[in-house]
Amino acid sequence: MKNLAVTILDDDDFILDVTQSMIESIGITDVVTYTSAQQALQSLKLSDVHQVLLCDLNMPEMDGVEVIRILGQSNFVGAIIVLSGEDSRTLQTVVNMGRAYHLRLIGALVKPVKMAELQHMFKLIKSSIAQSKYVDMPLNVRELAAGMEAAIKPYFQPQVDVVSSKVMGVEALARWVQPDGQILAPSFFIPLAEENQLIDRLTDLILTKSLLYWRQWYEAGIDLSLSVNISMHSLNRIDFPDRLVEEMQAIGMPLDRLILEITESHLAEDMRIASDVLTRLCLKRVQLSIDDFGTAYSNMEKLMMVPFSELKIDRAFVHGAAENPSSYAILKSSVDLARRLKMKTVAEGVENQEDWQCVAGLDCDLIQGYFVSRPMLGERVVEWVKSWEKAKCL
Ligand code: C2E
Ligand code: CA
Ligand code: CA
Repeated sequence: MKNLAVTILDDDDFILDVTQSMIESIGITDVVTYTSAQQALQSLKLSDVHQVLLCDLNMPEMDGVEVIRILGQSNFVGAIIVLSGEDSRTLQTVVNMGRAYHLRLIGALVKPVKMAELQHMFKLIKSSIAQSKYVDMPLNVRELAAGMEAAIKPYFQPQVDVVSSKVMGVEALARWVQPDGQILAPSFFIPLAEENQLIDRLTDLILTKSLLYWRQWYEAGIDLSLSVNISMHSLNRIDFPDRLVEEMQAIGMPLDRLILEITESHLAEDMRIASDVLTRLCLKRVQLSIDDFGTAYSNMEKLMMVPFSELKIDRAFVHGAAENPSSYAILKSSVDLARRLKMKTVAEGVENQEDWQCVAGLDCDLIQGYFVSRPMLGERVVEWVKSWEKAKCL
């Protein structure tokens, strides 16, 4: 097995020194320490399964909960161990959050760290890497750069009206199709593209390929809105709005039926160029949507800074909300907030009838989730919409 690369993040230098020497004493030589969460996050290779982060929860500048949330949203594939003196309730919250994001959260170590517990954690890390799900990444940067044009394909997931069940739009979700037909989810290539300045090319590719399908559906009499995920990195290109308008005009589709989704947590990044670009997109009538809502601490000010017209509530607060009072509370207050800001709401991750009913009871507008359909090939959309509408007698 490749050697593990360990990062320790704690605001206490003494804890850092002691923990580092303990880890080195069990034969791991690649150990770095940080007191700044920002620096620790920048140093992690998000798409490398051999990365290990030991993270304190209680830190002044950015707390551990936020660090874990950011890693969850960035699809970090490494292992995480929480370092804590916190009570078990806080720890449970962190573990729940890790699960919601499918992070490899191995467990918690109570400070001061004991040798036997540390060794046990590293055993767990090694066996989690050995499990097939965490095999080495199937793609490397070279393959990503060389094969992108051919291998990237948009899949589309429908969004339906909660009340009428009518199909209102689709979201484009990127897939990597290997030569042997194996299909890779975005977590295998989006972080890699973001880390290696390949994300602009990927964004443009998905947009161009999605627009072509969109036009075909339109010609077949299926009028849908199209949502595309835009990495915050790609909004730092000042010419993006003009190029998008040109492309939309060439394809002959109306700008106000295109929705660009931007993930909530990334709004925290440098907004100077991005808010200029977003405002100009809005002036051109492109719709803007705030994605994964509820997973970061957005304040009103930030929400008002960009003219969003849609809010997508993260599936962590939708699926199972009927039985989970804290998810339900976040779901309800998000819908209320959107109403007040005159934004449309989309509930993601509706997996069953119960989820649908729960969302419908809250006056949410649109539903997206496995209960309606998994993402599908662009070639299948027209046929799917027709059979859905037939089944619902629309
Ligand atoms: P997202 O934008 O939040 O997309 C929704 C994700 O939830 C999709 O995962 C979708 O397949 C999944 N999903 C939909 N319904 C359900 C459900 O009922 N239950 C569950 N458990 N999951 C559901 P996917 O396709 O793996 O995409 C993951 C993330 O990758 C996306 O999250 C988005 O942030 C990112 N991504 C996808 N395509 C692109 C792209 O073209 N560009 C960029 N920058 N990011 C993309
Ligand atoms: Ca999205
Ligand atoms: Ca989302």
